[in-house]
Amino acid sequence: MNYATIKKCDIANGTGVRVSLFVSGCRHHCLGCFNEEAWDFHYGQVFNEDTIQEIMDALKPSHVEGLTLLGGEPMDLDNQEGILPLLQRVKNELPDKDIWVYSGYILDDLLPGGRAHREITDEILSYVDVLVDGPFVQDLKDISLRFRGSSNQRLIDLKETLKQKEVILYQGKDFYRK
Ligand code: SF4
Repeated sequence: MNYATIKKCDIANGTGVRVSLFVSGCRHHCLGCFNEEAWDFHYGQVFNEDTIQEIMDALKPSHVEGLTLLGGEPMDLDNQEGILPLLQRVKNELPDKDIWVYSGYILDDLLPGGRAHREITDEILSYVDVLVDGPFVQDLKDISLRFRGSSNQRLIDLKETLKQKEVILYQGKDFYRK
């Protein structure tokens, strides 16, 4: 996996101050995509153990609430192997940090039988607190929405959703305005 950039003080992609990893590679090619350069799976730098350590170090300060993965498409079948060891380390070593993932796939695509499900997907999803799902749809663009670009995208409380086996929208931290 390659990645485009790491933001170490991001307040735009999830609650609080976050470390955000923008992975490379996306096959959705949404009209109006904010980040077309990251469609290329070879864009940016190679994601390796040093990158993971850099992210772990950036996550440690107490004012950092958690990690956000976006891109690009973190849940692409070819990127899931890249993000899994990072999520394992965060959950093992920094369990108080929450994890948000932005995906152009909808939740059903990521569940067993879905087009973006593979043998490691369930483990990845088990580490995710909030999944922002669905592609960006230009006709549904709404700049008043927080943490998402178009109204089809959902902020899903993934832990509760997997537990209750129905989609539970994230209601935390006084931000869900629509
Ligand atoms: S899923 Fe995200 S990165 Fe991929 S094309 Fe759509 S908006 Fe761009």
